[in-house]
Amino acid sequence: MKENITQKFSAEDKKWMRTALNLAQKGEGYVSPNPMVGCVIVSSNGKRIAQGYHEKFGKEHAEVQALKTVKNKDDLIDATVYVTLEPCSHFGKTPPCALKLKDLPVSRVVIAMQDPNPKVSGKGIAILKEAGKLVEVGCMEEEARKLNEAFIHYMRFQKPFVIMKMAQTLDGYIAAPDGSSQWITGKQARAKVHEWRSKFDAVMVGRNTALTDNPRLTVRHVDGRQPKRIVIDGPLSLPKELHLFSDQYSSNTIVITHNRGKYQAGADPMLTLLSNDSFTGQTLLVGKKENHTNLDEALHELGKLGIASILVEPGLDLGGALIRQNLVDKLHLFIAPKILGGGTKSILGLGINRIDEAIKLHDSHYEMIGDDLLFTGYF
Ligand SMILES: [Zn+2]
Repeated sequence: MKENITQKFSAEDKKWMRTALNLAQKGEGYVSPNPMVGCVIVSSNGKRIAQGYHEKFGKEHAEVQALKTVKNKDDLIDATVYVTLEPCSHFGKTPPCALKLKDLPVSRVVIAMQDPNPKVSGKGIAILKEAGKLVEVGCMEEEARKLNEAFIHYMRFQKPFVIMKMAQTLDGYIAAPDGSSQWITGKQARAKVHEWRSKFDAVMVGRNTALTDNPRLTVRHVDGRQPKRIVIDGPLSLPKELHLFSDQYSSNTIVITHNRGKYQAGADPMLTLLSNDSFTGQTLLVGKKENHTNLDEALHELGKLGIASILVEPGLDLGGALIRQNLVDKLHLFIAPKILGGGTKSILGLGINRIDEAIKLHDSHYEMIGDDLLFTGYF
C-alpha cells in the first residue's frame, strides 16, 4: 500500500514538495501552535511561478503567501499547487485556503499530509475535489509528519510534545561529585541547545536545577526568539532573586506548583512569594501525584496555554520522574568523550530490574556535534 503511494509521485513532484518543506521549516519557532506549512506553485510547463510559507502565528497561510508572488495570473492555468499540509477549510484568523484555491484555474493540488486536526481533516481535500481539481495526498508524507511532529502530537493529545535534552559523560554522569556540570559538552553542542530553545515553545527545568545552576534558559549563542521558561516548583518557594524571576524575560516564566496553601495565601501568589517588581510571569496550580507535582496535569495545563512543544533540560529528579511517568516523547542525549567515575547519574529510579524491562527507544539517530556524540530517539 505504502509503495503504491510513493509510486504515485514523480521525481519532479518530490523535488517541488521538498522545496515546499524547506520553505515551511523557515517558520520554525514562530508559527506555533499552528503547523509549519510551505507552498510552491508550478506552471503547466514545469516552471515555478510562486512560493510562500506560513511565517508567523496569526499571519497569512502558506498558500496565500504563495499566491501573492504570482506575477502573471495566466500562469495559473492548469498549474500544480504543492502544499505540505491539507489546505484549511475553516474560517480562523484568515479565510480558508481551500476556498481560495478552488476558484483558481489550477488543475492539480499535491498535498504531503492530511490535516491532523480531527475537526477539519479531509474537508479541505473534499472542497478541492468537488471543484474538479485532481487532488493527490501523501507526497513526502513521512518528511512532512516529521517536520510537524510537535503540532501533530499537540493536536492529538492536547498537550505539548516533550523533548528531553541531556548531556552526560561516557560513563553516564551529568555532574561531577562536587556538583559541577559546566561544561560537560563542547561549544558546538551548547550552541545546538540554544538553537533548540529558539525553536520550541518553552524550556522546562526542575526546582533543583533552578536552585543549583540559576539558569537563564535564554537564547544567546544563536539568533532566534526567546522561549517561555517553565520551572517546576512544587512548594512554591524558590528565591525571587533567581534569573528566571528577575531578568528582563521574567514575563516569559511560568511557575508550576502544587502548594495550594501558599497559592491561595494571597490574591496574587507571586506578590507574596516572589515579591519582586520585575516579575510578571504566571503561576499554575496543579494537583499532587505520589507526593510530587502532577506532571501530566501540568502538561495539560500548559497545552491550554497554547504551548505545543517543550524542551526539558532536567537534573536527576525531573528527568527520572518524566521518564517513569511516560511523559517524554523524544530524547536528545549528548555524550561527551569524558569519564568522571563518579557524580550524578543521568537517569535513575525507573524501578527497572531486568534487562528485558529496559525502555527501548525507536527511530534512533546518531550524529557528531563538535567532539560530542548526539543521540536522538523516540519513546
Ligand atoms: Zn490556510
